[in-house]
Amino acid sequence: MNHDIPLILTVVVGLGLAFVLGTIAHRFKAPPLVGYLIAGVLIGPYTPGFVADQDLANQLAELGVILLMFGVGLHFSLKDLLSVKGIAVPGAIVQMAIATGLGLGLALWLGWSLEAGLVFGLALSVASTVVLLKALQERRLIDTERGRIAVGWLIVEDLAMVLALVIIPAIGGVIATHGGEEVIGDALVAEPGQSVWVALGLTGLKVVGFVAFMLIVGRRVIPWILHYIAHTGSRELFRLAVLAIALGVALGAAQLFDVSLALGAFFAGMILAESALAHRAAEESLPLRDAFAVLFFVSVGMLFDPATLIENPLPVLGVLLIIVFGKSLAAFAIVILFGYPVGTALVISASLAQIGEFSFILAELGVGLGMLPQEGRDLILAGAILSILLNPVFFYGVDRLKLRLERRAAAAAAAAAGPLPAPQTAAERERADDEAMLRASRMTDHTVLVGYGRVGSIVGEALRKAQVPFLVIEDVDRIATELHQNGIEVIHGNAAAPAIISAANLGAAHRLIVAIPNAFEAANIVQAGRAANTGMSIVARAHSDAEVAHLRSHGADIVIMAEREVAKSILAEVLPAPAAREI
Ligand code: AMP
Repeated sequence: MNHDIPLILTVVVGLGLAFVLGTIAHRFKAPPLVGYLIAGVLIGPYTPGFVADQDLANQLAELGVILLMFGVGLHFSLKDLLSVKGIAVPGAIVQMAIATGLGLGLALWLGWSLEAGLVFGLALSVASTVVLLKALQERRLIDTERGRIAVGWLIVEDLAMVLALVIIPAIGGVIATHGGEEVIGDALVAEPGQSVWVALGLTGLKVVGFVAFMLIVGRRVIPWILHYIAHTGSRELFRLAVLAIALGVALGAAQLFDVSLALGAFFAGMILAESALAHRAAEESLPLRDAFAVLFFVSVGMLFDPATLIENPLPVLGVLLIIVFGKSLAAFAIVILFGYPVGTALVISASLAQIGEFSFILAELGVGLGMLPQEGRDLILAGAILSILLNPVFFYGVDRLKLRLERRAAAAAAAAAGPLPAPQTAAERERADDEAMLRASRMTDHTVLVGYGRVGSIVGEALRKAQVPFLVIEDVDRIATELHQNGIEVIHGNAAAPAIISAANLGAAHRLIVAIPNAFEAANIVQAGRAANTGMSIVARAHSDAEVAHLRSHGADIVIMAEREVAKSILAEVLPAPAAREI
């Protein structure tokens, strides 16, 4: 057999091992990404046995970053991005400065030079796109205000990195290898001898040029192409068009304008977000995105030499403390200073308490230019892998802390007699809304309606007309806020999360209606509902016979299979009434 198949080997062994170890991690109630990272370490050069091609793994990982950022762009409009610039821009800059300072301090303590310390500190100051987005997606936070701030913050960091990759070689004054232009990661570094300001100015111009190009040309051409393809009716071509646009714009951005692939993909998505086809485009890119995101974690694992942990325990600990506590405390303080609620500050700091791909690119660049000692790169890698592993734990801690703070706030609000003063600033209003939407309900004998989309909104409207007391649990910010404004009691969040479902006072409820399309989440909600109240009736929505059985086995009394009801309605139109009723 021909063994010269490194790409196939890397993909197959990477995905295969990640699958096995991810499943094992899941079995032990750990996040699957722990398994993906360990899979990477196992096929990396520092452990015995098969060694995958690192270069190929990095490129595959980059595809994951592109598709992820494209997906985020699809959820984002320019308006969203501008609406968070007030906090994201100063927040990211100040936080990066603090983290760089901390890293510099550690580097000086280790006896490195000032420039080594600066590169090292900068590498510790930027969070990984993939890790952040995965965490937000898992918690369904992308569409919330805190999610938008976190993503805006990330975009600013990304832009700062584009600049840093230009400035550092200019400061270093030497170009590592071949001379001339050298592509490192996905960014272009400066020409030798170029002054810092010229390099900076050129980069700034290119970024502006790219953004202007996307807003003027991209905004017209991209939606037009997709609409055209959508009208051909070919699902296959539509899928292909989405992929070609995401990858094509990302590559074009990197090649022509020297901005990062991730930023290019983000803009491609953002331009599409304004078109009605955004939702379908997002769905079509999902499966590939998930597969390549897994390869990202595998490729990170491959870089890691477990021996560093034993050889340099103290510096590793220092790096980890800076990433996990230094950065997140700084972010927390900034968000609070800007008048945002504690919950928002906690989510932002948890999102940023890790480092990843950008840090590796910087570390490689620093070592290549002779500015950073090898040891620095090893520490950055160790810090990245440990902080990525710890990130889910950190989020878990933040969720618990948030719950406690909210309970305390609710108790304090209940204890305070008299009407609350009218909220004044936007931040105060948002905080009041947030708290109102999360406080445990005091309703009794009520109906709890989970999901207020196509199905739930019709049910809710009818309940309101019939004056049946009900409350809604809804995940999407916009819908929850609207309901709240219309005077309907709403709990904002994912009903599958124990903290959210327990706020609905199910123990005293009369009925639970689960009107969401995802049967796995629905089953968790039904189960929690049943555990809280054995007597109430539970109605759930399903889309297949298997889902009906699954929901019943978790405690639902009545499960409506949506497609069957559609079929019945169609038959009622085409057959005489008695025949249609037999179905
Ligand atoms: P549709 O499929 O149009 O009826 O929409 C379902 C609605 O349920 C959407 O508005 C979702 O945001 C919402 N939803 C889906 N899953 C959850 C969940 N686990 N918790 C709360 N709301 C949800």
